Amino acid sequence: MPAAAVAPATAPVASSAPAPGSGRLWVKNPLAAFTANELDAAGGLVIENGVITEVLAAGQSPAAPCAEVFDASAHVLLPGLINTHHHFYQTLTRAWAPVVNTPLFPWLKNLYPVWARLTPADLELATTVALSELLLSGCTTAADHHYLFPDGLEDGIDVQVDVVRKLGMRAMLTRGSMTLGEDDGGLPPQHTVQAPDVILEDSRRLIRDYHERGDGAVIQIGLAPCSPFSVTRDIMRDSAALAEEYDVRLHTHLAETMDEEAFCLETFGLRTVDYLESVGWLGNRTWLAHGVHFNDDEIARLGAAGTTVAHCPTSNMRLASGIGRMAELEDAGAPVGLGVDGSASNDASNLILEARQALYLQRLRYGAEAITPERALGWATRGSARALGRKDVGELAPGRQADLAMFRLDDLRFSGSHDPLSALLLCGADRADRVMVGGSWRVVDGALPGVDLPALIARHTAAARRMVAG
Ligand SMILES: [Zn+2]
Repeated sequence: MPAAAVAPATAPVASSAPAPGSGRLWVKNPLAAFTANELDAAGGLVIENGVITEVLAAGQSPAAPCAEVFDASAHVLLPGLINTHHHFYQTLTRAWAPVVNTPLFPWLKNLYPVWARLTPADLELATTVALSELLLSGCTTAADHHYLFPDGLEDGIDVQVDVVRKLGMRAMLTRGSMTLGEDDGGLPPQHTVQAPDVILEDSRRLIRDYHERGDGAVIQIGLAPCSPFSVTRDIMRDSAALAEEYDVRLHTHLAETMDEEAFCLETFGLRTVDYLESVGWLGNRTWLAHGVHFNDDEIARLGAAGTTVAHCPTSNMRLASGIGRMAELEDAGAPVGLGVDGSASNDASNLILEARQALYLQRLRYGAEAITPERALGWATRGSARALGRKDVGELAPGRQADLAMFRLDDLRFSGSHDPLSALLLCGADRADRVMVGGSWRVVDGALPGVDLPALIARHTAAARRMVAG
């Protein structure tokens, strides 16, 4: 496992008396800045103790001296991007031939037996790969939906916690679950499902051991029964009660495909949102992956409830699931976040490219004028923060965490471009040059300090081959 040693945000001060402005960093005069709010950051940001203390308009200087200045004149500055839906373990089954050309249900049926072989070492490698890739794409906070706990992998979430800490990111790790196996009319093989009491007890343990509250949280835990066709209504209700008891978030897949809608009508006699409401999930504690197939009435109800939808455009195109109605959801009051989804249905974990996909897919539904690069970037930042229930990240503003993504535009693909912020998405930026999490640089010059990527790729590739070989 490569160590994820990272460079400190500021150089140690040698003298005993603090120098003027010590510990204060001015990220100065970015080429362009997107704050995800009304603030103008053309003059840059001041950062102290891992928090943004000033947002400077054009021509403004910091109110007090800064010992360190980072010249950002070649960088487009964004709030750190936030990923709201993923299955890190699926990086081991990217572009696997048997499911390259299938829709969701046969895709799952083929993959479940392969995924059931997942070991703790595999999950550690897969999580490191997914998070490294996300971090290099400008992501600073990532959610994962992990619902596979075969024998030997009972501590899967604990494995993921260690990797997140090593890489220095923030994460919302959800304790997923599957309880409805094939024998009971569900989709997953029986040996991949767990008993409800085991799931609930492990959920309690994880919340108690790892869930951090308040500003600057590094690890948070959510509860995430997998989907209507892989869990019982009881585990949905019990998870909602547990989330209420511990004040944590709820996550699940919903309204992803027409197959799923048909399953809900046949099994429960309900459409997806009626099902969601019937198990106590229609509220602002919930964020839903996909949300492709909602009718007008359902959009209004989700908006009134403040339920968030994690838009996963690449996955929806890859599996031909459909085009979600994200602008209408947002206008109705349902926040919209962005997710790359698990790497067997994307198959990249690149969040800045996902914002590009969201821009273009939503333009197909709403036209070019309604869906701007700023709107797509808003989903990847402010909207995603709301999905995860966070008020300390997702925008550049005083008091917010110093989580930043910075991109240079000196690649061939940007040559001849004019508006820097638009160029980021229209020309297809795919790699951040600098990424900061809580005041510490985690990506420097487009690389992860301390992470041996060739060694990681070699070990991960070997694990992926072993896994599909059986
Ligand atoms: Zn998913």
